[in-house]
Amino acid sequence: SYAFGEEPMKDWDLKRREWLKLHPSFAASEEKVLLVTGSQPNVCKNPVGDHLQLRLFKNKVDYCRIHGHEIFYNDVLLNQKGTGFWAKYPLLRASMLAHPEAEWIWWVDSDAVLTDMEFKLPLERYKDHNLVVHGWWNMLYKEKSWTSLNAGVLLIRNCQWSMDLMERWTSMGPQNPDHEKWGKAQKSLIKDKAYPGSDDQSALIYLLIKEKDRWADRIYLESEYNLHGYWLGIVDGLDKISKGYMEIDREVDLLRRRHAEKMSLFYGAMREKHMKDRGFWKENVRRPFVTHFTGCEPCSGEHNSMYTWEACWNGMQKALNFADNQVLSRFGFVHPDLLNSSLVSPLPFDFPA
Ligand code: UDP
Ligand code: MN
Repeated sequence: SYAFGEEPMKDWDLKRREWLKLHPSFAASEEKVLLVTGSQPNVCKNPVGDHLQLRLFKNKVDYCRIHGHEIFYNDVLLNQKGTGFWAKYPLLRASMLAHPEAEWIWWVDSDAVLTDMEFKLPLERYKDHNLVVHGWWNMLYKEKSWTSLNAGVLLIRNCQWSMDLMERWTSMGPQNPDHEKWGKAQKSLIKDKAYPGSDDQSALIYLLIKEKDRWADRIYLESEYNLHGYWLGIVDGLDKISKGYMEIDREVDLLRRRHAEKMSLFYGAMREKHMKDRGFWKENVRRPFVTHFTGCEPCSGEHNSMYTWEACWNGMQKALNFADNQVLSRFGFVHPDLLNSSLVSPLPFDFPA
């Protein structure tokens, strides 16, 4: 059966290999990524919720078009009990079965914005791993903190190991009659866990601590770039980052004109070198790859009480327009004010893009 918890998938690696042999035109490769995201089946309670969902989805479609990834948007609950953050696991499993040619399934929460349209997932780095999430090992094992990793953006390999992990992972979820017990078990291990019930992020932390030998060596905690970046620490810096990049583009463009023949072929590489020389890989200077509006709940509007809805709204406008400027500038237009989503200006023909 396609459902979790009824009949576990067995021998998926073998079955997948057989399928790939029979379907050579799908040209499976280690680089093939399917981005999967989605939202609830009903109208958003928040009047601007569906508008935000559309813009958040557009952002992911733009990224996938630029990088040649496929994308799947799901708006149904595959398991009626698996609501909210638990909704993604039956979907990830179904996506693996539906797309055997995809080596990686990349889950991106609907409330996460891809804010560096040029950044490529460094898949080569993950060749010995099956699950990649943003996080820090020392924080996980020393502080056992809820924020030591984030499960809102994850890369999971299409393989039997992932099936086994998700079977175990979701056994702590709401389809399990014991899930209240799991919420308590997680809370006693993870002191700063705020949500009282069992949640998927706590469940992963729990498995990494309690069943380390079984899972940890195939899990990669990424912290060299923002595979997930917490929005609150990011959005205020976006204007400055945007200006910085414009400056770099102008400088590299001048260099290119000065050395027209030598440089024209190496524009991308040149720009990268120039940015490295100028210290552009530092945080708050470099574009964050992902800006995740965790806690903002754009659809329901029931945001975390630590901040106002205005802060969430403005932050989302900034992140979406910041990302959109990287797309729109290729079309010759720009949002001059990151807070004003409807205003766009044309760019001069010689704008370096
Ligand atoms: N989601 C879904 N279907 C649902 C509810 C949620 O696919 O019925 C997805 C949606 O993409 C959302 C994610 O689950 O972004 C996780 O929820 P949320 O982002 O609200 O959690 P947070 O990041 O705030 O902890
Ligand atoms: Mn989220």
